[in-house]
Amino acid sequence: MYVIGGGPGGLATAHALRARGIRAVVLEKSDHVAASWRRHYDRLHLHTTRRLSALPGLPMPRSFGRWVSRDNVVRYLEKYAEFHQLEIVTGVEVSRVDPAPDGTGWLLHATGGRELTGRAVVVATGYNHTPHVPDWPGLADRTGEFLHAGAYRNAQPYAGRDVLVVGIGNTGAEIAVDLVDGGASRVRLSVRTAPHIVRRSTAGWAAQFSGILVRRLPVRLVDRLARPLARMSVPDLSAHGLPRPDTGLYSRVNEGAVPVQDVGLINAVRKGRVEIVAAVESFEADKVVLADDTRIEPDVVIAATGYVRALEGLVGHLGVLDDRGKPVAHGARSPHTAPGLYFTGFTNPISGMLRELALDAERIAKAVARQRDRGRAAP
Ligand SMILES: Cc1cc2nc3c(=O)[nH]c(=O)nc-3n(C[C@H](O)[C@H](O)[C@H](O)COP(=O)(O)OP(=O)(O)OC[C@H]3O[C@@H](n4cnc5c(N)ncnc54)[C@H](O)[C@@H]3O)c2cc1C
Repeated sequence: MYVIGGGPGGLATAHALRARGIRAVVLEKSDHVAASWRRHYDRLHLHTTRRLSALPGLPMPRSFGRWVSRDNVVRYLEKYAEFHQLEIVTGVEVSRVDPAPDGTGWLLHATGGRELTGRAVVVATGYNHTPHVPDWPGLADRTGEFLHAGAYRNAQPYAGRDVLVVGIGNTGAEIAVDLVDGGASRVRLSVRTAPHIVRRSTAGWAAQFSGILVRRLPVRLVDRLARPLARMSVPDLSAHGLPRPDTGLYSRVNEGAVPVQDVGLINAVRKGRVEIVAAVESFEADKVVLADDTRIEPDVVIAATGYVRALEGLVGHLGVLDDRGKPVAHGARSPHTAPGLYFTGFTNPISGMLRELALDAERIAKAVARQRDRGRAAP
């Protein structure tokens, strides 16, 4: 069978399948595994702990520390593929998945006119590769510099410059702090909806641990529990333009907004080194128009506005995506209309994505092995 994508999700699943005696070939469009991690900004460290970010069958070395750096994530994933002797074909992009003509599996259309068939297919293409930029009026005519956060590496090119970062997810928040530390002359952070901000760790207790503990609790209960904790651990930043959010923490996660882990933002906002401004509405040549009708003129705009899953071309015609482009089933479950087609990495769990990818890998491998065993038992 085939696994599309050589990121942590695809590698973990390929290993879990192999461990059950199922041959799995990983198809990776770039020249290396871990392509997404190689592109992330230099300063990035995991927000989830080393132990809870490891994939099945290989712990991360202690020397990586508690919060693993981007380069060490890449090293780990390279080692993971080598250690488990995974079969990986790089430079092969799968453009479309169709039912196999004989009705027994899937036909993959890939780079160079390749056609590959497999009984089952795992889609592990990730959702951090296709930037999402809102359809802002006037953006096409902007005269100043503009980039998506996906193209940001470090603060060096922005030293001495006035930068507006748009969007206060984990990426926008960290890039804003990186710019301050890297010597940008002014850093503003445009916020539409104030986020939940949590400490990465309090007295040694990682925020991820709480995420795991509360994952199966009712959303409203978690919202209620989180409120006093936030008041205790995070100062009130409303005077600086960041009021505490009205909607509960877990409700927001369910809407797709994971809490922002503080890696310096709270301090930078309190000291006025990162200024919070209103949401971006439109662009007028070198000016940016904000929702409160002010016009500002930053030298550079960095849109930390997220990514899209971009699964439409690959599997959209199979009726397996909902109206937001998200697979209708994930992990061990295949969509009803597409048995043997599995998805991993398209959810947004409060308990950590790498941990979820590791769990999904085992679940998918178990489901595929069960199918195989049923096939063997059939007369
Ligand atoms: C900045 C950032 C920080 C994060 N930090 C954490 C963290 O601290 N803890 C945590 O648990 N999670 C974190 N995540 C979330 C998640 O763990 C990572 O995004 C992780 O890399 C997702 O793994 P994946 O395998 O699903 O996707 P990816 O890592 O994106 O891998 C997908 C692979 O598929 C390949 N591919 C895509 N399309 C095709 C195709 N059509 N054909 C062939 N190959 C294809 C890509 O080249 C890529 O190599 C973070 C995400 C981001 C963006």
